[in-house]
Amino acid sequence: MKRASIFRALVLVALTCAASAGVLAQPNKYARDPKQPVDEDYTKKIKEYTTEPFFLSPLVDYLPASKTVPTPKAVLGDVAGAPGKLPYTAEVHEYMRMLEKASPGRVKVFSIGRSEEGREMIAVAIAAEPVLAKLEENRARLAKLADPRTITLDDAEADRLVNLSVPVYYIAGSLHAPETGSPTALMELAYRLTVDESPYIKAIRSNVVTMITPVLETDGRDRQVDTYKWHLANPKDAWPSAVYWGKYVVHDNNRDAMAATLALTRNVVNFVVAQKVQVLHDLHESVPYLYDNTVGDGPYNAWVDPILTDEWQLLGWNNMSEMTKFGMPGAFAHGTFDTWSPGYLMFIGAMHNGISRLYETFGNAGADTVERKLQPNDYARTWYKQNPPLPKAMWSQRNNNNYTLTGLLTALSYFADNNRLFLKNFYLKSKRSVLKPKVEGPAAYVFTADDPRPGAQAELLRVLQRQAVEISRATAPFTVTLPVKKARAGEKPGEKPAEAAAPAGDPKPDAKAEEKPKTETKPFPAGSYIIRMDQPYSRIADALLDYQYWSPNDPQKRPYDDTGWTFGELFNVQVVRVSDAKVLDAAMERVTDVTVPTAVKGAGPVFLVNNDADPALLALRYRLKAAAFDVAEEPFDAAGRKFNRGSFIIRNVQAADVQAAGRDLSLQAYAVDAAPAVKTHAVKAPRIGYIHTWLSTQDEGWWRMEFDRLKIPYDYISTQAVAREPNLASKWDVLVFPPVGRGAQQIVSGMPMWRNPLPWKTTPLTPNIGKIDSTDDMRPGLGYGGVVNLETFVRQGGVLIVAEDTSQFANTFGMTPGLSVQAPARLNAPGTVMRAKLVDGASPIAYGYGENVSIYSAPGLVMGVSNTLGGRGGGRGADAGPSRPTGRGTADDMDHPQGRPVVTPPEEPKVEAWQAAPVTDEQLRNPLNVIPPPQRPRVVLRYGDVSSLLVSGLLENGNEIAQRPAVVDVPLDKGHVVAFAHNPMWRGQTQGTYGLVFNAILNFDQLNAGRKYDEK
Ligand SMILES: [Zn+2]
Repeated sequence: MKRASIFRALVLVALTCAASAGVLAQPNKYARDPKQPVDEDYTKKIKEYTTEPFFLSPLVDYLPASKTVPTPKAVLGDVAGAPGKLPYTAEVHEYMRMLEKASPGRVKVFSIGRSEEGREMIAVAIAAEPVLAKLEENRARLAKLADPRTITLDDAEADRLVNLSVPVYYIAGSLHAPETGSPTALMELAYRLTVDESPYIKAIRSNVVTMITPVLETDGRDRQVDTYKWHLANPKDAWPSAVYWGKYVVHDNNRDAMAATLALTRNVVNFVVAQKVQVLHDLHESVPYLYDNTVGDGPYNAWVDPILTDEWQLLGWNNMSEMTKFGMPGAFAHGTFDTWSPGYLMFIGAMHNGISRLYETFGNAGADTVERKLQPNDYARTWYKQNPPLPKAMWSQRNNNNYTLTGLLTALSYFADNNRLFLKNFYLKSKRSVLKPKVEGPAAYVFTADDPRPGAQAELLRVLQRQAVEISRATAPFTVTLPVKKARAGEKPGEKPAEAAAPAGDPKPDAKAEEKPKTETKPFPAGSYIIRMDQPYSRIADALLDYQYWSPNDPQKRPYDDTGWTFGELFNVQVVRVSDAKVLDAAMERVTDVTVPTAVKGAGPVFLVNNDADPALLALRYRLKAAAFDVAEEPFDAAGRKFNRGSFIIRNVQAADVQAAGRDLSLQAYAVDAAPAVKTHAVKAPRIGYIHTWLSTQDEGWWRMEFDRLKIPYDYISTQAVAREPNLASKWDVLVFPPVGRGAQQIVSGMPMWRNPLPWKTTPLTPNIGKIDSTDDMRPGLGYGGVVNLETFVRQGGVLIVAEDTSQFANTFGMTPGLSVQAPARLNAPGTVMRAKLVDGASPIAYGYGENVSIYSAPGLVMGVSNTLGGRGGGRGADAGPSRPTGRGTADDMDHPQGRPVVTPPEEPKVEAWQAAPVTDEQLRNPLNVIPPPQRPRVVLRYGDVSSLLVSGLLENGNEIAQRPAVVDVPLDKGHVVAFAHNPMWRGQTQGTYGLVFNAILNFDQLNAGRKYDEK
């Protein structure tokens, strides 16, 4: 048993002892109201659809009857959890509104926003009449507890408010589309909470406001129900799995709570913040039979208040305690899930001073009742699973609903019984967030007004605003004291001032550092943005902007998700962590709308736009489609400022159009009389083909979302369409093929062709699928014909952009001569922010970037380049050790063979890990396999040196990827394959590396610009 586990076991024992007395004192607490009739039909069906008596509890083994309020049967035609019944989103919502209509005193339905495809999201509030009637007054009191500044942090006033108020417990279901049980469970929960007159339910109704969003992923729910209906209509066939859930992503809709890019995430954040909810409880299905994975395992997120982790234990303990007494097998609270990343939807609660919770129950991905056989490690008894699940059992959707309902009712009951405690904790967590500068710090994060990337800075600030973080702006210059950062090996001190205050560990100062002062003063200009930490939602800002460190020695060996995310690094924006509380005295004002200056400066017919790697630059080219765009191949001075390589020189356009586009895209243009004297090339608006597979759309969805957000036009084509089109170049200039999450062979082969076709089409039976793209049969992949078409496209002059597994795909099928690609063998980097270095700043792909770029890598591909075909490529790397052979002398000496004069060999050229070894005369004797200089791979960006590779997260055996190429432009005949070792467009979080992709697109026919060729 791990040390942490022993500790938790002791806590559990202590809690159990403390609580058993209270339970004994009220033996009949689950008893129903004998005066209230039971709905006999419904109750009979519950029992019929439950496959074993121990899959039921006294809380759900009957349904109270009501003369006026309809049961879920009114919409479902059967009971919740009945076999074969999966309601669409609109049907679930229809039922909730029927409840509201039948019981307006106890039920209120809120519309909380719409999905990307326009489907409504709702929240249903249920409480006793006196509570619901004064919901707004209650909310106003909760708002004071949520922002203790409004009551001057007065604990006595907080206690008064706590005693008057009722907390909000917010339950949300159906985030993951194939986890199908929660909507019917929540329909029945809403009914029970509305009509049941048992003391148990009445106490919940009076002491907590239950809020329910029965379907979070409304688009995905409807597509899932379609595929289930298809399955019911074709019961003997294999059925299409929902390759799309939401418009953009599938499972990762539960990884969006940091950047909040999806509509559903934003709707939930807005609702949680507006209603000041105390708990956000998200419902999932995976493991048998109910796992409260909030308790889970370590490491816990490093920015949450310890009060919250205590609340997780309290709620989880009570849940398990109750379900254990009911004799329900397979209910447990510990397990393999760590709570490190704040990207899960439930974390919206945790990061806004509430409580995050999550259940995994057991579902069948549909409403069929089937025998489920478990793996030994799922049914084995462990210390935290004393009554484990059965090795095999008939499992029904009703069983699943019973577990969800029982868990939720006991949780609501415990929360209602302890509502003062949890409300007081809510206040304390909010107060401690406000006190952050005085206690653990920092005092603020500062975004300097002279950041070279104002557009990216504004985007990052808007992310914080979406999280309800208050943003201030300095009205005068100010100065703060910062600790001097010790330069890490391989980095020049002061190379990146943004990191001056980065808490990159606290290594022992070496002799040199001790001589230097430990602090320095740093001035910031007026207009700098300040994120004060003395605000209620300081915690989410701190979690997003700080650095993460996950020890390779952590007992948790399998991180559940990304281990690093530092947003300043990933947005390529300077963010300074300031502990000096004096920063809070700077003259500043609150900002509600983050804007960058976009008024065209100067006058003249030529417009200059600096290239600062802003993703919106590509959008500008499409926005001003008729204008003439030239791109500078060298930096230049004009209009009183410096312009980077890649800056735009725009002609044949009206100033008003430039102005309007600049305003919409947060870009600043400078008007001048004449173009600067600098080498340029023209860029047109490329025709983009965007390739997806029918295997998986999630990773590409994050790319597509950003293309759409920035209004970059593209044709969305499947690998099957690529296979059908022999002349891809006639339609597109650039093909973007984002990561698939599958191997090269599977991209080609697709799904197995045995059994039946799998249509993804809009039909009367399946009205919600086949809209984003459609096919008669999802099974065929790219095929060898498609591979040939792609290669032909590149050879004719097209550009193919690939990343991670699609880089491997292009390499496997011979489209990247001189590039070697392989998956790392020892590197451990499960979603880590790493330092990358610019190798060739003259490449158009690098336009706008500085010497350092932080990239997201998980873990990334080990690439090498070679000037010959078949070469593995790349030097041995900095840490490869001495290279001399066995012989006489020391490690640094030269060997001397005996019996002949000593011959000193010529010095071998030093080849770095990102470089190709120079071609030798021996190789040129027959140059067949020597790649001609213009066709050799061009490394644009490489991974950093091992000593400075880690920026945030977990990194182990980094030497395997250190210094290796990260972005390589590989010529193939007249075209190029641009290969990324990492994923540059990830979860809306890596906006700092979008520019690498967009530069490649914009300069597709000029990628050789600035290139220096080898002499031989
Ligand atoms: Zn899930």
